[in-house]
Amino acid sequence: MDLLNTLVDKGLRRELPTREEALAVLATSDDELLDVVAAAGKVRRQWFGRRVKLNYLVNLKSGLCPEDCSYCSQRLGSKAGILKYTWLKPDQASEAAAAGLAGGAKRVCLVASGRGPTDRDVDRVSDTIKTIKDQNEGVEVCACLGLLSDGQAERLREAGADAYNHNLNTSESTYGDITTTHTYADRVDTVQKAHAAGLSACSGLIAGMGESDEDLVDVVYSLRALDPDSVPVNFLIPVEGTPLAKEWNLTPQRCLRILAMVRFVCPDVEVRIAGGREVHLRTMQPLALHLANSIFLGDYLTTEGQAGKADLEMIADAGFEVEGTGQVTLPEHRVTAGTGGGCGSHAEAGCGSHADAGYGSHEGGGCGPCGSAADEQAPAAARVPEVVRASEARTDLVAVRRRGAGTDLAPNA
Ligand code: SF4
Repeated sequence: MDLLNTLVDKGLRRELPTREEALAVLATSDDELLDVVAAAGKVRRQWFGRRVKLNYLVNLKSGLCPEDCSYCSQRLGSKAGILKYTWLKPDQASEAAAAGLAGGAKRVCLVASGRGPTDRDVDRVSDTIKTIKDQNEGVEVCACLGLLSDGQAERLREAGADAYNHNLNTSESTYGDITTTHTYADRVDTVQKAHAAGLSACSGLIAGMGESDEDLVDVVYSLRALDPDSVPVNFLIPVEGTPLAKEWNLTPQRCLRILAMVRFVCPDVEVRIAGGREVHLRTMQPLALHLANSIFLGDYLTTEGQAGKADLEMIADAGFEVEGTGQVTLPEHRVTAGTGGGCGSHAEAGCGSHADAGYGSHEGGGCGPCGSAADEQAPAAARVPEVVRASEARTDLVAVRRRGAGTDLAPNA
């Protein structure tokens, strides 16, 4: 296919594909799917070899959020039966982190529900970061605390944080359909604050919320312009008790096309499969390792993942290797360029939040408002093409997390 040859050439040169090329990846047929995976896999191997970086989530504070992100089981008024607890103490968080690190993770992602941290919260998390770093040599720590105020990113950096996650989640034009208590612009601002403070920026998306192909391409191009070092791709986990509980829009094939498109648009960036990997990729998870170079080990913020041991076996069986603490994740040109370093060639130019659809952040994905367009657009589900809405609900694959942080049971790692 000329399209795939062109995309491979551009990916190897870190050149931005056209929007039409990105859309064409999402429109490929099932007959072409293995060719798409093979092509994006060449780009992945060029910049990341066969390494898979493992990340481990520690939910520092769960539920009881005043924001209304539709995908999130921790949102205001959520009826989801998730664990709810206030801040873990530094030693409790460090204990949970140690389990993930013992399982092979090199990055710990410290996540807290909420619109954003108070200065006191930043103090608490700073103590937690120091405790984890003191007790675990070489660990990378990413904080994901929602929208940041001036000076907070700098304080987290001083405390030893390596990265900050805040996802854009979806396109600017549909943001108001998903969340009304904060805006897309708020999210962009927080990613820029993290970047400016010298933190490695992590920002991604949630697919499966009723968005169109154009929306997906929009958000991925916006991410490229923001130039994060890592892009978590969440696949919505439609948790019962949330407004998006009936949004079962994804098939394994669509997930693979989305990951391939992200890889082509952000060729040299850590692309992480986040929430929804087990639920939506199912038996196709190993194929997705040819596209993404990073996953979460074990459980997500409020839902369970497959056993950490199964993650490790899958990586080995698929012919990949877990990235060690002595190995540098990003290609040299991004490391030498400093934090950020560039998502490709810069041709044009978060809370993470919380998504269990995705973290990058927190399960579903996001944290932020954009009220103005909300009344003008059709409901998200109405905008989804019929062909995309072909998957069946797999509620049997969604289990609320009942172990690890916030419980007396051992974490899954
Ligand atoms: S994504 Fe974050 S800000 Fe939004 S409802 Fe969930 S915990 Fe709150």
